[in-house]
Amino acid sequence: MDASEVKVLRGRVLSFVDEPASIDDAKSYRYIEDGAVVVGGGKIIMVGEFNPKAAAHHEIIDHRGKLILPGLIDPHIHFPQMQVIGSYAANLLEWLNTYTFVEEQRFADKAHATRIAARFFDELIRHGTTTAAAYCTIHPTSVDAFFGEAAKRDMLMVGGKVMMDRNAPEALRDTPQSGYDESKALLEKWHGRGRARYAITPRFAITSTHEQMEMAEALAREYPDVHIQTHVDENLAEVAFAKELFPNLPDYLGIYERYHLLGPKTLLGHCIHLTHRECEVLTQTRSVAVWCPTSNLFIGSGLFDHDRLHAHGARIAVATDVGGGSSYSMLRTLDEGYKVLQLRGQRLNPLRSFYMMTLGNARAMSLDDRIGTIETGRDADLVVLDASATPQMALRMEAVDTLANELFLLQTCGDDRAVVETYVAGRPMKSALAA
Ligand SMILES: [Zn+2]
Repeated sequence: MDASEVKVLRGRVLSFVDEPASIDDAKSYRYIEDGAVVVGGGKIIMVGEFNPKAAAHHEIIDHRGKLILPGLIDPHIHFPQMQVIGSYAANLLEWLNTYTFVEEQRFADKAHATRIAARFFDELIRHGTTTAAAYCTIHPTSVDAFFGEAAKRDMLMVGGKVMMDRNAPEALRDTPQSGYDESKALLEKWHGRGRARYAITPRFAITSTHEQMEMAEALAREYPDVHIQTHVDENLAEVAFAKELFPNLPDYLGIYERYHLLGPKTLLGHCIHLTHRECEVLTQTRSVAVWCPTSNLFIGSGLFDHDRLHAHGARIAVATDVGGGSSYSMLRTLDEGYKVLQLRGQRLNPLRSFYMMTLGNARAMSLDDRIGTIETGRDADLVVLDASATPQMALRMEAVDTLANELFLLQTCGDDRAVVETYVAGRPMKSALAA
């Protein structure tokens, strides 16, 4: 490594080491008031107290007073829905048919896919998100645009071509064979290239026939180390329709179970209307329930039952689900998540929120050996947050006396304005956007 590319980021370093048991669980995180994160070659080289002598030979970036955290992680998002966000609809199926399935057809056009992919990663960076698991469209062009643009920014991204062969417009349908062939070719092309990771992506049971589910199963068997992403139990009409399409199976999750698509690398968007059996299957297979609070409120799908799944021992992640979700910000997402649980009579303390956005989501995506914490040897994906980012936040901060309360203020009032800088593989990316 060239010594000139080593940078010392000085600030208040916060990184979780485990899931916080309570709001005063000081053992769940590591905090350094005047800390230094030394980065180079895309990695974190050292973390500790700031030492002026040791730092003297390197470029020092001064983030004093600001919090340096691991980059935020969004495990469920649809990149082709950037121009769908904020669309007025009564429910999920109307929203899909009226807006989303129309917009997604435009991704057959390479120029459109490339333009939106570039804007997508700019938006993630603006909001402090350094890794996401994204749905592309059925078009291989959309997957190439997605991973091509991620590679330009050296971002660790999970993504895949959606497989859909029914209950969608003609232009958005593949076939069991073409869905398999195209997914396999894209997987071979992108998975493990730089920081790219492929996800086998049957959109949801409603848009795949039995034959297509079998093809997804075949792919998953051939490539056991790749992610699988899909949706389950989001909306009551959707649940009823899925059960109608697969009548001999016990429930909605039972469809994915039948085709052996559940497991530790399976990310299941929503999981709101789970039966007791589904909770047990989810937990036993170590599949991940991905909670999408802004989407669930916006589309009116329901209130996620966090404590019920937690009591089962299920793995839980939290995500934006843009464009059903209404914000790219993980801060806004956890703010809405907090309110969802308030309505359920459940507590979500700010330590747990920030654990979930970082290490929790990294664990849920089985990427915690690379990202999610600030430790020597980890990828240098970081975010710098300022709880005094706006005049009203600065005024409120005057009365904040604990780290947990500062985090809660960031979550309650913060958005992209609170993101001072986003580092991807050690490089400052947000300031570069503005330049
Ligand atoms: Zn989704």
